[in-house]
Amino acid sequence: MVLGRKLPGVFPTLLFLLFAVNILFVMHVKHEIQHLRREHSGHLEQRSLDSARENVFLEHLEKIEMMFHNITNYIKLSDNVVQKKAADKLKSPEKPNPAVPTAQGGREDRRKPQAPPRMQFPDSPLFRKWGRDLMEDQQSAAQELFEKYGYNVYLSDRLPLDRSLKDTRPPRCLKKEYSHDLPTLSVILIFFNEATSIILRAITSIINRTPSQLLKEIILIDDFSSNEELKGPLEDHIKNFNVKHPGLLKIVRHEERKGLTEARISGWKASHADVVAILDAHIEVNSEWAEPILSRIKEDNTVIISPVFDNIHFDDFQLTQYAEAADGFDWALWCLYESIPEDWYALNDQTAPIRSPSIMGILAANREFLGKIGVLDGGMHIYGGENVELGIRAWQCGGKVEVLPCSRVAHLERAHKPYLLDLSLAMKRNALRVAEVWMDDYKSMVYYAWNIPLENSGIDYGDVSSRKELRKRLNCKSFDWYIKNVYPNLVPQIAIVGYGTVKNTLNEDYCIDQGPVPGNTPIMYNCHGYSPQHMFYHSTGELFVGGLRSRRNTVDRCLTDSGKGELPVIEQCDEAMRKGENMHWDFMQGSSIINRKTKRCLEIVKYHGSPYYTLVMQNCTEQKWFIQHTVKQWGRQQ
Ligand code: UDP
Ligand code: MN
Repeated sequence: MVLGRKLPGVFPTLLFLLFAVNILFVMHVKHEIQHLRREHSGHLEQRSLDSARENVFLEHLEKIEMMFHNITNYIKLSDNVVQKKAADKLKSPEKPNPAVPTAQGGREDRRKPQAPPRMQFPDSPLFRKWGRDLMEDQQSAAQELFEKYGYNVYLSDRLPLDRSLKDTRPPRCLKKEYSHDLPTLSVILIFFNEATSIILRAITSIINRTPSQLLKEIILIDDFSSNEELKGPLEDHIKNFNVKHPGLLKIVRHEERKGLTEARISGWKASHADVVAILDAHIEVNSEWAEPILSRIKEDNTVIISPVFDNIHFDDFQLTQYAEAADGFDWALWCLYESIPEDWYALNDQTAPIRSPSIMGILAANREFLGKIGVLDGGMHIYGGENVELGIRAWQCGGKVEVLPCSRVAHLERAHKPYLLDLSLAMKRNALRVAEVWMDDYKSMVYYAWNIPLENSGIDYGDVSSRKELRKRLNCKSFDWYIKNVYPNLVPQIAIVGYGTVKNTLNEDYCIDQGPVPGNTPIMYNCHGYSPQHMFYHSTGELFVGGLRSRRNTVDRCLTDSGKGELPVIEQCDEAMRKGENMHWDFMQGSSIINRKTKRCLEIVKYHGSPYYTLVMQNCTEQKWFIQHTVKQWGRQQ
């Protein structure tokens, strides 16, 4: 009895003392290591690998330290809570929590926390700036939904479906007048296991912000979702919408998971209007989004249009306005924003269409024209590459692609994609389809960027014969024409003769690695084969380190020998060129890597009995290097 009453007070205090001692110990060890590191910082050559290991160790220590802090905080807090509860009990009996209805008829919990609630998921991206005032059970519920969807469904369920959005258009767009005689529009929303409130908000925004006489239909494509609430309950919502807007909403359900490209194609097939807009389900269209699209397509039905996306934050659902940009891609065919072409600025009209090499997924087009040029490549799996394929195809086959500054769609960028942990697998395969069908001799760039051998890649990219036929039938232009006329920012590297990881025969477990970033000292590191270890040797002598950028205004990194000190140095290639650095190397498969100017060799050494190799520049001792893949006959005759 006595013990029982005293425990809550004494036990946490003892634990607190124990943890406090531990924190002091961990901080001490950390301090010692950092001190040692400072003392040794003169011996650069020894640091590379050792410092990587130290970093890992320090990170561990920091985590332990953080854990102790959390536990002590928890104990302090629970001690506070126990004391506060006791005090509160004396003051007043607990009241029931008032709950108020939200826009969706749900019930919002309005409990006000008694003490600042403990953050249960301090490392979760969801709680970085949102959710500080949630009670613990609410935090758990929100976190669980976040993990499932990659965005804040807890909040979405509590926001109005018809919430207002900041008008993000350039001011001149507001003064534009559009013809009353515009083409009609089918809007397609594709989804796989999205949250119901997200889909309903997308539908609501489309109904509220599209002229009803132009909006022919909204077609939902369910790519075989497993969430129960997207079955019967969603049908009920559709019926409710259709009571007010007869025949407006339709739903098509896939009988198996087909991926987003086929979902978009299914939407196109089911559509009837003059123009189709194919959107993700986690969007909200903004004011007058449709009119600029419809009027531009009325002028020219061969143009594929992208609205400008603004970003709905996955955590607090705030809208961030994005600057207008063109849509491009790199040689791995990942999408990225490109600067707007000069001639657009010369027009001095913020509302003018921006000529764009590609699109980013969300698109609008004349339904018949899109069909004529082959909609999308149905042979693509799950995710990636389909938008770049459409961009290239549209241009090469007689169309064009434009971004319209006056058409704004707010798109929710997820924190993670719940349906695919590693996007690169599908992406890589789909990229090879694009390369094989559309890119002619430039296709090798895609293989280089993904570090895939040019022959016998081992990747089954499926049957591309019908897409090749399509290209022939439409009499499409070459990729060379596309690069020169549409996307000069994409720079081909025609002199690459070897690419991939680079190993020394003294120890083939280690590869040349770009080393810590920021930093410019390459190191030897356990081979993992990701882009920090991708190197590109050119017949002209340059050796790129750490992946392939290869677009105008982005800089590849070149290996150089300063001629001073023992370490090789990585420099931005353009800088190295400008400063006349020693950036050219002689290399043949299975032989030394020799700097053409300094005549020193890139070699590996073990220092002071260290078990690890350090990458150095020194007088040549005939060490041998191999690069993973070679191009055509280069290096094969050795
Ligand atoms: N989607 C789909 N099937 C899939 C994967 C995704 O229908 O196998 C849908 C998804 O629900 C979303 C759209 O495709 O509406 C685009 O996917 P996501 O938003 O993940 O791509 P992102 O916009 O991030 O590139
Ligand atoms: Mn999306």
